[in-house]
Amino acid sequence: MTRSQALFEEAKKYLPGGVNSPVRAFGSVGAVPPFLKKADRAYVWDEDDNRYVDFVGSWGPMILGHNQKEITDSVIEACRQGLSYGAATKIEVDMARQICEMVPSVEMVRMVNSGTEAVMSAVRAARGYTGRDKILKFTGCYHGHSDGMLVKAGSGAMTFGVPDSAGVPAAYTEHTLLAAYNDLDSVQTCFAAMGEQIAAVIVEPVAANMGVVLPEPGFLEGLRSICTQYGAVLIFDEVITGFRLCAGGAQQWFQVTPDLTTFGKIIGAGMPVGAYGGKREIMEMVAPIGPVYQAGTLSGNPVAMAAGMTQLRILKQNPQIYEQLNQTSEHFFKKLANSVYQAGLPWHINHIGSLGCLFFTDSVVHDYESALTSDTQAYAGFCNAMRKAGFYLAPSQFEAMFISAAHTTDQLDSLVQAASDYF
Ligand SMILES: *Cc1c(COP(=O)(O)O)cnc(C)c1O
Repeated sequence: MTRSQALFEEAKKYLPGGVNSPVRAFGSVGAVPPFLKKADRAYVWDEDDNRYVDFVGSWGPMILGHNQKEITDSVIEACRQGLSYGAATKIEVDMARQICEMVPSVEMVRMVNSGTEAVMSAVRAARGYTGRDKILKFTGCYHGHSDGMLVKAGSGAMTFGVPDSAGVPAAYTEHTLLAAYNDLDSVQTCFAAMGEQIAAVIVEPVAANMGVVLPEPGFLEGLRSICTQYGAVLIFDEVITGFRLCAGGAQQWFQVTPDLTTFGKIIGAGMPVGAYGGKREIMEMVAPIGPVYQAGTLSGNPVAMAAGMTQLRILKQNPQIYEQLNQTSEHFFKKLANSVYQAGLPWHINHIGSLGCLFFTDSVVHDYESALTSDTQAYAGFCNAMRKAGFYLAPSQFEAMFISAAHTTDQLDSLVQAASDYF
């Protein structure tokens, strides 16, 4: 028995499913999860001392690679000043200014502790601001696990075939409307029926929780104009795309300006951090200056802020990081697509910047329905074979591959070679 197998058996006694987040259990690829103990640059190591090139990157935060020296040093230094005070600190001001400078649509921001919390709070602010109850989301988009958002929520829920969660009263989701990604007609239909009741449209500007699905030209622009027309708040959930596609996120990449934006993952550099922000007049609805209550004992925690602030500062001061990362990633995904083609397989790769996904389907994937045509068993075979060859890929067809600035062309080429051999 490997150490990971032994740990998994032990873990299952004390943790539901042996894990603290479902996809980590590797259930959808029918494997035992490697228990990781260490990471450096583009590598992770498991308890059995296997080394892998990491394509998960903690699900996105590690855009500069693991164990980045300046980030780690800033965290250690912050720790020495005490772990938390539950009081206002200078670094929160620095962090807020940094976010507002990098993402111009964000005029004010509130720090929270996870992407889930960011979305939950942004939705509340939008409801408070508009005085309306309904929220429109897209099938296959994931916005964290708050009650109202667990409707056709992609990733974990898709993999496990449980579209809605037990324990969520119907009353909590009756205000959640569903439309199809990349289908503006489905959005128009909702607005035509009840536009005056819709507080917000929330969307992943690049969907990255049903695999990676790009917005078709005009889709995000269409959402912007419908929201403007009906006085609804447009929320971009940039928990994955924020600070990843470029310094200003998907909204800069696609040149579409939302009213509110939610952040997570990269903003904390691996620490548990989220944030929501946007137009001043909406953010001024939030307590203590407005009537929308939202609070957090550990929000803006100085150690977490040190990590996030250092990562954002590096990204802001070195725009060539994005240029290089996006170019390297583009080459990688093209080579991978070519190896699929050379092997005579009909599968598709969707990719943008350092995000990508190999869909095991012969359909073009542009929404949830087409994503569901993927052969998840075939993905499982691929994922497990790659892990044996030393590459750590997400244990689900419906997750992205995350490339970091620490990945070398050699490391990426070696995955392409291993994949070619497997095909
Ligand atoms: C990961 C994710 C969330 C939830 O963030 P957590 O930190 O896991 O709560 C929300 N929205 C999107 C788009 C995500 O990818």
